[in-house]
Parts: sequence; C-alpha cells; structure tokens
Amino acid sequence: MRFSGLRVIKEALTGHKGWTPAWRDPEPQASYDIIIIGGGGHGLATAYYLAKEFKQKRIAVLEKGWIGGGNVGRNTTIIRSNYLLDGNEPFYEMSLKLWEGLEQDFNFNAMISQRGILNLIHSDAQRDAFIRRGNAMILNGADAEMLTTAQIKARYPFLNTEDARFPIKGGLAQHRGGTVRHDAVAWGYARGADSHGVDIIQNCEVTGFKIEDGKVLGVETSRGFIGASKVGCAVAGSSSRLMSHAGMRLPIESHVLQAFVSEGLKPVLPGVVTFGAGHFYVSQSDKGGLVFGGDIDGYNSYAQRGNLPVVEDVCEGGMAIFPAFGRARLLRMWGGIMDMSMDGSPIIDKTHIDGLYFNGGWCYGGFKASPASGMCFAHLLARDAPHPNATSYRFDRFEKGLMIDEKGMGNQPNLH
Ligand SMILES: Cc1cc2nc3c(=O)[nH]c(=O)nc-3n(C[C@H](O)[C@H](O)[C@H](O)COP(=O)(O)OP(=O)(O)OC[C@H]3O[C@@H](n4cnc5c(N)ncnc54)[C@H](O)[C@@H]3O)c2cc1C
Repeated sequence: MRFSGLRVIKEALTGHKGWTPAWRDPEPQASYDIIIIGGGGHGLATAYYLAKEFKQKRIAVLEKGWIGGGNVGRNTTIIRSNYLLDGNEPFYEMSLKLWEGLEQDFNFNAMISQRGILNLIHSDAQRDAFIRRGNAMILNGADAEMLTTAQIKARYPFLNTEDARFPIKGGLAQHRGGTVRHDAVAWGYARGADSHGVDIIQNCEVTGFKIEDGKVLGVETSRGFIGASKVGCAVAGSSSRLMSHAGMRLPIESHVLQAFVSEGLKPVLPGVVTFGAGHFYVSQSDKGGLVFGGDIDGYNSYAQRGNLPVVEDVCEGGMAIFPAFGRARLLRMWGGIMDMSMDGSPIIDKTHIDGLYFNGGWCYGGFKASPASGMCFAHLLARDAPHPNATSYRFDRFEKGLMIDEKGMGNQPNLH
C-alpha cells in the first residue's frame, strides 16, 4: 500500500478500514542468503538498501525485542553533517543527502525537518576551530555559515549574548541540519524493507554463531538455528556482547546516554542549538517539548537507564546558556546504551570470519548516520568491498594508528 494525501482522505471517508499492517510478521525460515542482526535504524536501513539498491534476495532482520525499541527510538533526533575530518565528512554529507530524499524514497512520513543546527562559539580559539570545520564542510559539498552574534540574537532573542558566564561570540550554522522523528525512521525502513521481501523477525534474539573452518554458517537464536551465507551485525550498544559469541573482543565500550524532554511550551526554539563551552544540545519538538541531552554517564554499563549526577550536569549546562529554560518542568527522560569506540568514529568492516560483517561504534551520533550506514553496509555485504565513503571505518585503523578522532581528544571513549 502506498501512503499519500489522497489515501488519507479516502480512508477518513470510509472509516479507516483499508489500512494494512506496515510490515508482515513472518515465521523465520530455515535459512537466508543474508541475515542482519539488529532491527534498529542501521540494521533496517541495511536490509532496505540491500533489497532495493543491491537487488539481494532472501534477507532477514532478526531483532531481539521490537522494532524501534533500541537507540533508534531513544535519541534526541538531531541530524547534521558538520564534521571536520576526511574520513567522516563525505560519509555524513552522504547521509544528509539521503535524509533529504528519504520520505519520498521509502514513502513514509518521518517528519524530517531541516530547521538548522547552530554550534555556539564562546572564545576566539573556538571561533578559529569552527571556521576550519566550516571550511572542511564546504570543501566536501556541505553547507556551512559563520554567524555573527547579532545574527544569532535576531533568531534567538532570549539568549544572553553580553554578560553571561559564557558570552556568545558567534556560531557555526548548518542550515540543512535539523531533526527527524526517530521511531518513524525505524518504521519507514521496516515497511520499505518488508515491501521488498525482507523478513523482519521480532522477538528473536541471536545467542550465538555457527562457525566452521573460519566461515559463518548461521546463527543460534531464541527461536532456533537459522542458516545464512552472510551475517551482518548491527546491534549498536550490544555490539561487544554479540561479537563475544564469535570470539571477538571489540575496541568498543558501552556507556549510557540520557535524553530529556520538558513539558510542552509555545514555539521558542526554531532550530537545534548546541552549547560549545559545556556539553548541551537542545531542540523543540513539534509537540512543544524541549528535547535535550549532554554527556554520557561516566562509567561502562549495559543498563538502559542513566543516573542522577548526569541529570544534574546536563541541566546545569542548559541553565548556563538558557537560564529561562530553568522554569520549564522536566517531563520525562530515558537512557540508551552507546557503543563508544576508541576514537569516536564507527566501524563498517568485514571480520576475520568469512561471511561475518560488522557495523557499530556509532557512539552518540549514529542516528544521523542511519541512511549512509545502511547504504555503506549494504554495499559491503553485497559487493564484499567497502563503499567509497566508508573506506576509513576499518577495524585495523586502531592497529595501524589511523584513528579518526574528530575531537582530537585522545583514545578514550568517554572523551568523544
Ligand atoms: C539518549 C540518546 C540520544 C542520542 N541522540 C542522537 C542524536 O541526536 N543524533 C544522532 O545522530 N545520534 C544520537 N544518538 C545515537 C543513536 O541513537 C545511535 O548511535 C543509533 O541509533 C544506533 O544505531 P541503531 O539505530 O541501529 O541502534 P538500535 O536502535 O539500538 O538497534 C540495535 C538493535 O539491536 C537489537 N539487538 C541487540 N542485541 C541483539 C541480539 N543479540 N539479537 C537480536 N537483536 C539484538 C536491539 O534490541 C536493538 O533494537 C543518541 C542515542 C541516545 C541513547
């Protein structure tokens, strides 16, 4: 079924009897050509592009819970491509371009809103760094504009730009950045993949791999063994746990990241704003809630919930730059498990096991990467060669010292 305005009108007039389920609920088959483990944004996008762009057949996505229950439905919904390094910027710009056509492509309303993102500058050194970043973005075909304090004040009149603890000295804007309704991305990709014949199997946890003579033959699951010629792993915060079943120890640590939503307010924040002196980012949802976040919790954890010290730290960051928001009540908050890599950049690569492929290390920036990650992982799975925009995301960069450390902060996950 195709969604359209006309369809909505027709269904409204005929009692909404014609809607069909967005995807099937098939029983797992005995074997597939390709199994994707993880029904998050990356796994579902991979399956979608494998079927649609690379014309692969007999594909299944195995999800231990339900579609959208992981980080794809837990993030603060920000998309952007404001990266500095060559290994990253072309990839994230490719992702932003895919976002721009995604709703038409998979025929689903994901509420993609290019309302812009603004990184505030609070010191002269930071201005230099952001000018450099903006130039790198433009060189890679992205948009970037340095804004003066007066331009920022015109858009955000309630910001204290003069005598605040962190005076605002300008900002780096990417007008094509913005927000997307996160769970609709999971649903849209799931529906799109299903329409191309992909089996989406929920409540099916992968508990092990069958590997013989260095080749993967399939996966053990909570619903029995399922054979496969190729297996792609895209389980985000559970990467270390899953890959340990294949005997692999990853350059990844898992940390919790929390998100917060205030009560609904009248429109006050037209775009996404990030506070460059602390760590705080905020946008306003279409329902009016301020959606914000900050640092990861400071220790490793697989718990999908955060702790009070970080709540306090994030709210302090918000108050430092938006004191007016202190009057809004916090409505809800939650946590997701981040697969923090050692340099803050992801991995899309083959493993040393024939037929076993890995996608992970997305840290807390993987939502915006979902379309490009899916396309590049599908390319790797279908062609056995990395996509030209993902050639740097290899396991061996840690061994060779070819880190893609966007912040230049060192090799510890909690620094990124
Ligand atoms: C609070 C928060 C805020 C964030 N904000 C942003 C943001 O603003 N912008 C941005 O770009 N990124 C953001 N991120 C990061 C982003 O959400 C993640 O990097 C990204 O969603 C991870 O990829 P995914 O969608 O595939 O993960 P997930 O949705 O977590 O998908 C992985 C799936 O694998 C499943 N799984 C795990 N183990 C198994 C198994 N053994 N068998 C079968 N299935 C399994 C899980 O149930 C899960 O559904 C944020 C994350 C959080 C938590």
